[in-house]
Amino acid sequence: MKLNQNYDKLQENYLFATIDKKIAAHQAAHPGASLIRMGIGDVTLPLCAAVVDAMKQAVEEMARAQTFRGYGPYAGYAFLREAVGACYGERGVPVSPDEVYINDGCKSDMAGILDIFGTDNTVLIPDPVYPVYVDTNIMAGRKVLFMDAVAENKFLPLPDPAVHADIIYLCSPNNPTGAVYSKEQLAGWVAYAREHDAVILFDAAYESFVRDPALPRSIFEIPGARECAIEFCSFSKTAGFTGTRCGYTVIPQALRRGGKALGPLWLRRQSTKYNGVPYIVQRGAQAVFSPQGRAQIRQSIDFYMANAAMMAQTLKACGIWFTGGENSPYIWLRCPGGLSSWEYFDLLLEQAGVVGTAGAGFGKNGEGFLRLTAFGGRESTAEGMERITALLHRFPD
Ligand code: PLP
Repeated sequence: MKLNQNYDKLQENYLFATIDKKIAAHQAAHPGASLIRMGIGDVTLPLCAAVVDAMKQAVEEMARAQTFRGYGPYAGYAFLREAVGACYGERGVPVSPDEVYINDGCKSDMAGILDIFGTDNTVLIPDPVYPVYVDTNIMAGRKVLFMDAVAENKFLPLPDPAVHADIIYLCSPNNPTGAVYSKEQLAGWVAYAREHDAVILFDAAYESFVRDPALPRSIFEIPGARECAIEFCSFSKTAGFTGTRCGYTVIPQALRRGGKALGPLWLRRQSTKYNGVPYIVQRGAQAVFSPQGRAQIRQSIDFYMANAAMMAQTLKACGIWFTGGENSPYIWLRCPGGLSSWEYFDLLLEQAGVVGTAGAGFGKNGEGFLRLTAFGGRESTAEGMERITALLHRFPD
């Protein structure tokens, strides 16, 4: 009997464990000192009323024999698939409900989708990156190539025609850098994928934070993408579903490789390994698309984006270089004074009681950067930014 030897190749993910350890040590040394947490990527505002009401009603349905539901359809209930398709349609992106697959948050599907691809494919992943893309491929034994996301390319790597890849990960708006691809840039990726017969796995978990109407919220806004891309979306950050768990994956009917359509292949995989998202949760997710739901989630997103604007303004005033914060809840800043990610993390924690996320934890190109998130409360975000400014004045270099 052998374990999966590929797990031995995984790098220990020290990032959040290290952060927790440092916080614990700080709190032990300074009992009672207030900490401002600007590191976590979790939301803080509660579910909106439209979602809560829809879920309450669904609970009542589950309590009556006539309306009780057992196992649901593997790809999700038609009411939610139709709502997702209609929402794309309103934005001028035709997506039919049977191209939509409901998931329990897009992390599961981003990992699970790899089951339908051969393990000898070459995978192209940006660095720095959301670690799930790397680790899931290493677990499956795939060869991973990295592309540099650095200040020189504004953290938006473009295709290198000399490098061949079969699977390409793109995340826009990006976690951790907050950078957002333009339509022209994505068109470059679509052209590359078509030429190389590759498939783009497009992570749009933060699409609802895009404010600039010129910026794409979906890869399917790009002509030709339906033949070469899968899109992953989530209600987690859009509607506060991080603990409720629901999202969706879009696999266009036109996406075929090796003579096979990928959508039915994915359904075959799902019907074997997955039994769907609870009815109650899918009713809650449907309410996100109702007029009241839309207005209410807009308020929450506006709230977070007002935090981001305040953070961006402070950093500009401090002369700290950063990306993100405009069409993204993440701000990716260059550590002042040439400090390393962990040096600046420690300085902020020790001297200002502010917790960020060390950029080096997202890949080698994250060294020298720190990620801040806009998902906190208004007062704590303001306090955090005041502390960062005060610290900079105390240590100007
Ligand atoms: N993609 C990115 C870039 C993320 O940052 C996250 C969560 O933080 C996810 C996907 C997964 O989100 P969920 O599984 O909650 O939908």
